[in-house]
Amino acid sequence: MTEIVSVRKALDYEKDLSEAINKTLNDLGGIERFVKKGDRVALKPNLLVFSSPSKAIVTHPIFVLEVFKKVLQAGGDPFVIDSPGSGIPFTKTSLNSLYRLTGYSDAFKDYSDCLNTDTSKVTVEIENGLILKRVDILKPLMEADVIINLPKMKTHTLTFLSGAVKNMYGSVPGMEKTRYHSRFRDVHDFSKALLDVWNITKPDLTIMDGVVSLEGDGPAMRGIPRKTEIVLSSEDSLLMDLAICKLIGLSYEDIPYLKVALENNLSDGRYSLVGDIPTINDFILPRTYHGKLSIDPISLYNYMVFPIFSKFLIEKPKVIKQKCIRCGVCVRSCPERAITMDKISAKIEYDKCIRCYCCHEQCPEGAIDLKRINI
Ligand code: SF4
Ligand code: SF4
Repeated sequence: MTEIVSVRKALDYEKDLSEAINKTLNDLGGIERFVKKGDRVALKPNLLVFSSPSKAIVTHPIFVLEVFKKVLQAGGDPFVIDSPGSGIPFTKTSLNSLYRLTGYSDAFKDYSDCLNTDTSKVTVEIENGLILKRVDILKPLMEADVIINLPKMKTHTLTFLSGAVKNMYGSVPGMEKTRYHSRFRDVHDFSKALLDVWNITKPDLTIMDGVVSLEGDGPAMRGIPRKTEIVLSSEDSLLMDLAICKLIGLSYEDIPYLKVALENNLSDGRYSLVGDIPTINDFILPRTYHGKLSIDPISLYNYMVFPIFSKFLIEKPKVIKQKCIRCGVCVRSCPERAITMDKISAKIEYDKCIRCYCCHEQCPEGAIDLKRINI
């Protein structure tokens, strides 16, 4: 059966969001198809860093609240759960700060007990994984009857898209996420780890916040908010990411984890896109994306010539000293211990750096840029 990916227009987070979510869910047969009375329902947004919703880095709290209320109406028992990026310690105190600074505490003031602060984990054995044999996952998430994935539509400097599949990587608790960057330095191997985590947590339903997306050097402070005015729903998050690629003019082959997924037959890639199909022109990709083969000479250069010199030309993280507040987040987030602190700012040892871009992602000040520096 061809799966449906539904896309509906939502101009903002106030007026027509609830109706847009309802429409996408109705296209899939209604929320009752996924949530039964008494089900414990984990809502998994993207809460990557301490950041105001206006920066379009986290799934907007109003978006999550709307889904939360629909689950309640269907008789479910919802709660919100995520583990932030590797620069933030995974503790109850940090989670409370995360909820406060991302606007979740305010939005959920009538349901504050439903914002998860349980940091326990469970080790899950993976049979026939692409690369992982076992993985630690947030325990309350694994114990839920239903998982609803609530990603933000964003770009990503390493994987180019930070969509529905990648959002489930946040199910790995705290700084353990960083270890996989160190173990799997090649982006295709890292993609296999991403896909194993997605497969083991397999959300029952995905509803994506694309009302305001993040383009450019996402997925955090160096990205640029972009009004794309859409909400997407699907039972299959991988197909949703394929649909996003199509909407922003990419092929699945441009996104390492989608290419690996299709090459390994995790999906037949067939879906039907229904609803208010938008035109999204000139979506800005991260500067780490160097295109694909075509007869266009620039693409040809990027594909054929660039890799030969990429050792010298590939984007490297660079600290903007004037912006650095010496908070140490990048030091904690670096899997290779390539960052130290001097008297003025953070400092990167390039011979240790594996270009995972975790520091760029986690810096709360946007003080780490990406440059083609010859070091
Ligand atoms: S670059 Fe500076 S501001 Fe950014 S995370 Fe590192 S120490 Fe903090
Ligand atoms: S310094 Fe290099 S290895 Fe360390 S987090 Fe940044 S990009 Fe990754």
